[in-house]
Amino acid sequence: MVRSSRKRKRSAEESPSSATCEVFSHARKGGRFTQKRVVEGSRVDPRSSPAPLFPFDAIPQADDFQPPDERGSSNTAPSVKQKISNNDKSRSVSAVLQEWTPHRTEFLHELLRLEAPPQTLSCATCKSPATYRCLDCLSANLLCSACLLLRHADAPLHKVQKWNGEFFKDVTLTSAGLVVHLGHNIGDRCPSPSDLQDLMVFGLSGVNRLVVRYCRCDHAPSKHAQLLRFRWFPATIARPATAFAFDMLDFFHKLQDQNKCNPYDFYNAILRRSDAAGLNSAIHRYNEIVLVFRIWCHLQILKRGGAVHHSFTVGSLPNGSMAIPCPACPHPGKNTLHLPVSDWKNTLFLGIDACFKLKLKDRGFSDTDLGTGMGYVVDQSPYRTYLEANANSIQSATTCGPDLHAVNQAYTKSSQGYAVTGVAAVSCRHAFIRPKGVVDLQKGERYINIDYHWGQ
Ligand SMILES: [Zn+2]
Ligand SMILES: [Zn+2]
Ligand SMILES: [Zn+2]
Ligand SMILES: [Zn+2]
Repeated sequence: MVRSSRKRKRSAEESPSSATCEVFSHARKGGRFTQKRVVEGSRVDPRSSPAPLFPFDAIPQADDFQPPDERGSSNTAPSVKQKISNNDKSRSVSAVLQEWTPHRTEFLHELLRLEAPPQTLSCATCKSPATYRCLDCLSANLLCSACLLLRHADAPLHKVQKWNGEFFKDVTLTSAGLVVHLGHNIGDRCPSPSDLQDLMVFGLSGVNRLVVRYCRCDHAPSKHAQLLRFRWFPATIARPATAFAFDMLDFFHKLQDQNKCNPYDFYNAILRRSDAAGLNSAIHRYNEIVLVFRIWCHLQILKRGGAVHHSFTVGSLPNGSMAIPCPACPHPGKNTLHLPVSDWKNTLFLGIDACFKLKLKDRGFSDTDLGTGMGYVVDQSPYRTYLEANANSIQSATTCGPDLHAVNQAYTKSSQGYAVTGVAAVSCRHAFIRPKGVVDLQKGERYINIDYHWGQ
């Protein structure tokens, strides 16, 4: 028993050093430290395993992985995560930059190589003389006009350039002869098409001036429907001359969610994609893109809220039906019992508060509300009627204590020149805004606003 105990003690004393060694070995073999091992030139042959240039090339292989010894690693051996400190990360970035710097001229030459034509100006497909190339297709090969049009029958928004003997000049697919036939499958031509019509299409590649023919077959859909089926959103209904590609609208939607990108900056960025120096004739479609984007967002809400599959028509949807209810709050019959239960788990906790940062200056706008009452903000028509009916109600001072200034200051807050001085919102304990849970405020945090709000 004594010998056995001594043996265990000795092995416990020895284990820290061996465990530390194994963990360190593992750390060196895993991703980040692999380069260090290569630089030191210890056991890896650089000819058989070249040093990776970037960290993401250095993905550790399954054979390299050696799990640390669990016997002694828990108390004494630092983990791999602890070893990779912030200093190690900054050293790694610096090491990559030092490794890249000698290749700088090579990278620059490769960029310039793309600005020059190949030695033979022949079409990559049919070997006839060629001068066109597409910047959006993966291949950088030259194409003749026939092969260019054939390849871009279903990609009319690609950015195309033409070699003019001195440099690659931006041209349009229309100048190469492309005519987009709407209303039929790609490649099919309408037997009774309309006359040629100009259409300016905004896409992620920039502004595209296209020539289209609409379908005029029997039972042909309307012009705007034909454009929508090409994933182009028309700016107007009657005679659309401008359209916006769906992927561009979706991209801007994501940018606005993630970057708070405003429409003006995005619109100008799209213009710069086609004319970075502003040398061509000016294009004025800013009002159109703002309006279309507003409609696009409204349609996305209706589409994702299942408005089309509702028993109501889109124009008469119940208030709050397009808002997302909190999945964690109790919903009788869905995630809790139908019967009223009084324990804390099945109690709905709500909080209400106002924010006076969200102001709106009164510029005399006359606007049409697309989805009033459908989502988080209360239906404006009955709300305004209620406010007008109670405009002269006098609000009594609060007796809740000297710290509750919001109520007492309702009438003293300045609201001159503002249509809205703030908003009040109801949220649950999971920070979800409730459907119909937001009202705007016209003069501080008055009872008449909050009472109506709470009643919804
Ligand atoms: Zn060709
Ligand atoms: Zn292309
Ligand atoms: Zn047709
Ligand atoms: Zn909740």
